[in-house]
Amino acid sequence: MKNEKPAEKPKLGITTALLHSDRFGKPEHGSLHKPIHTSIAYGYEKAEDLAAVFQNRKKGYAYARQANPTVTAVEAQVTTLEQGVGTICFSTGMAAIGALFFAFLRKGDHIVASRYLFGNTASLLSTLDVMGIEVSFADATEAGLVEAALRPETKMVMVETIANPVTQIADLAGIGELCRKHDLIYIVDNTLTSGCLFLPKDVHATFSVNSLSKHFGGHGDALGGSVTDLGNFDWTRYPNLYDLYKTGDAKQWALLQLRKKGLRDFGGTLSPEAAHSLSIGSETLALRIERACDNAQKLAEALAGHPKVRAVHYPGLPGHPQYERTKNLFCRPGTLVSFELHDAADTFAVLDRLQIAILSSNLGDARTLVIPVAQTIYWELGEAKRRDMGIAESLVRVSVGIEDTADLVGDFLQALNG
Ligand SMILES: *Cc1c(COP(=O)(O)O)cnc(C)c1O
Repeated sequence: MKNEKPAEKPKLGITTALLHSDRFGKPEHGSLHKPIHTSIAYGYEKAEDLAAVFQNRKKGYAYARQANPTVTAVEAQVTTLEQGVGTICFSTGMAAIGALFFAFLRKGDHIVASRYLFGNTASLLSTLDVMGIEVSFADATEAGLVEAALRPETKMVMVETIANPVTQIADLAGIGELCRKHDLIYIVDNTLTSGCLFLPKDVHATFSVNSLSKHFGGHGDALGGSVTDLGNFDWTRYPNLYDLYKTGDAKQWALLQLRKKGLRDFGGTLSPEAAHSLSIGSETLALRIERACDNAQKLAEALAGHPKVRAVHYPGLPGHPQYERTKNLFCRPGTLVSFELHDAADTFAVLDRLQIAILSSNLGDARTLVIPVAQTIYWELGEAKRRDMGIAESLVRVSVGIEDTADLVGDFLQALNG
């Protein structure tokens, strides 16, 4: 089926739009939330209608692996948030990213990706590399370094907004210009910023990807992912589209191919139950992000002033290498803070003294979560590679939540003071 346009009226603030989006879509019985539709299959009275849905001539539901009304409602919310043409949701952020690669690349194509990517995305790209789609990693904080990695076979460039865990900020606008000039698909993983803090559409991105498991849902209780077509790419010029999907408005071609080749055939479908949780969570997205950004700034400043702390990485601190870029691109510098201790041997003792922040690996939860990076998510790499990537042995990543500021900052200070 074709993607639905966002249901709500234009020019609303983001919280108003998300909060009322289901109601504007006129759900069943005047229900304020889109109901959780659990049917896998949908019945039709006329064979012609069933055929029209299968042939993409009519909107409708056929089999829930490729579309479900509860999921459609979340797709409309994400489209609103990202100001895109349409969105397709997936079971996880990784399913969304994988579907993009599988739907739009062919053997012999080449991708340039940021060196500072979410670990599982980097791992997925290394799998593509052994399957005949070559991948080059470049330092995306400078568009020139990305440009130097381009080849005649390059089809895609992929970056993240705020890199985890050291918070490098990609040259998002410069890379956008580059991709426009060379007709390349430009994928921006907007998970760490979300449409609340940054619109990839404004830097000429083709697709915005979100792990809805993080800020969007915000409560760490449902997995989901999304891909939004931002309307910037001229799909009549892209060689890897199948004629079958070039029907009607060219703005919809890529979404249709992604829904068929990426979602239907690959099967990473968002469940209606998870879609419901994510949708409820998104109602407070802007409020949570505001509060978490306030907390992150205060925490980063407090950590930077502490004698046991050797370095703090936060794009809202004037010493951050991309401080000015952050101010120009993002509404706020985000909710990810990481820091290093002078004495790496202290790291676990400090973390064990935290009473509010939780030792856990997730991001974008309403609760503050901390993790010692070298000993966990970067353990497999080994010390030499970690040093290459600028990951100190004492690096602690903090996904800042919405706790009361004084409680949160106080917790870190008491843990450091021991
Ligand atoms: C978590 C994350 C993903 C993967 O999302 P899942 O929903 O966990 O599959 C992708 N990109 C970034 C930047 C992430 O933080």
